[in-house]
Amino acid sequence: MAVLEKKATQDAIDLENKYGAHNYHPLPVVLSKGEGVYVWDVEGKKYYDFLSAYSAVNQGHCHPKIVGAMDEQAKTLTLTSRAFYNDMLGKYDKYASEYFNFDKLLPMNTGAEAVETALKICRKWAYEKKGIPENKAEIIVCTNNFHGRTTTIISFSNDEVARNNFGPYTQGFTKIEYDNLEALKAAIENNKNIAGFLVEPIQGEAGVYVPSEGYLKEAKAICEVNNVLFIADEVQTGIARTGRLLATCGNCTCENKDCSGTPEVKPDILILGKALSGGAYPVSAVLANDNVMNVIRPGNHGSTFGGNPVAAAVAMAALDVVKDEKLADNAEKLGKLFRSELNKYIENSSIVKLVRGKGLLNAIVINDTEDSDTAWNMCLKLRDNGLLAKPTHGNIIRFAPPLVMNEEQLLDCVSIITNTLKEFEK
Ligand SMILES: *Cc1c(COP(=O)(O)O)cnc(C)c1O
Repeated sequence: MAVLEKKATQDAIDLENKYGAHNYHPLPVVLSKGEGVYVWDVEGKKYYDFLSAYSAVNQGHCHPKIVGAMDEQAKTLTLTSRAFYNDMLGKYDKYASEYFNFDKLLPMNTGAEAVETALKICRKWAYEKKGIPENKAEIIVCTNNFHGRTTTIISFSNDEVARNNFGPYTQGFTKIEYDNLEALKAAIENNKNIAGFLVEPIQGEAGVYVPSEGYLKEAKAICEVNNVLFIADEVQTGIARTGRLLATCGNCTCENKDCSGTPEVKPDILILGKALSGGAYPVSAVLANDNVMNVIRPGNHGSTFGGNPVAAAVAMAALDVVKDEKLADNAEKLGKLFRSELNKYIENSSIVKLVRGKGLLNAIVINDTEDSDTAWNMCLKLRDNGLLAKPTHGNIIRFAPPLVMNEEQLLDCVSIITNTLKEFEK
């Protein structure tokens, strides 16, 4: 990179490096504007966004309907705290509960907070409804999970970089292999104090691992028989990303109507974040039916910003957009096209092993060692060629564009990606 030519880029990076904590390793590109499927850097160069802020921007950058709702509400009332009622939260609670077909919603701000909330609800349910002895509740989680960055959540991560030197860790979690029903059955049958099973319907951060057909349904059935809560973390997979309103919907296609069909799995607790606001504002939520949610009473849990009027307005607009623009259908259609186009390329490739995913949550696996910098170098080249993506776990590149993309744009992106990959073929 010629430093003089890219002075604005270099200056912004230097500033962040000097005054910001070094808790990320960003691709060297400095963005200053976004619209739909595009972002622009400070030099004015335009890119396709193929990360969508880890699937927060499913509705596309700066969607006018979402920004409009935010703008209007921001000029009217931004925050009351929950010390008082506000006239937006009830409307949003009703809207989102009906939208996802649950009795109640508990509003939070970030994904990690919503996961924490779900764990607290599950534990309280275990003691008050299931009758597990005090402090004995165990929640089953999966290896290679990603549920956020709080102290409790990293306690049951097996990512050493995320975990090391942040102990002592929170107790009460049992780890089993992902996509392994026998392990789930054994863990539940060997311990009568199991309260819940926390799972990602597709492991996104781990590298877009799609479980075997029927895994979620069977896992839910095992939980049900044993009175264990099935807790779905759909922070990344939810809100149309995988070609359905939720990844747990499976093949149910009611998402553009009223959620009255039969989902593959109906979680006991559903965790949402990211695209719940279309990337405009931090909004997360936990949804459950009354038999579970009613264990939460005044003083048990809360957040100053959770359920604020701006968040409520933004989330309703963001969910409207998903239905109005049929984003789930589009994600399913374009996802199939994307994988089939990449598979054509992979047939004759020595550098790419495979493409996998569902809807527009996909990844390619690079044919190189896990600690190689090939995937990183490819992302630098993709950037030079006008498309932004980021490696996840060494040799895997995740591809997750905004769901408002059209077919012509997707095919343009496929040619940018395949032309870039060609530069790396041996
Ligand atoms: C991103 C993510 C989280 C954490 O969300 P934050 O808003 O970053 O706290 C939790 N679970 C999954 C599956 C995620 O992808």
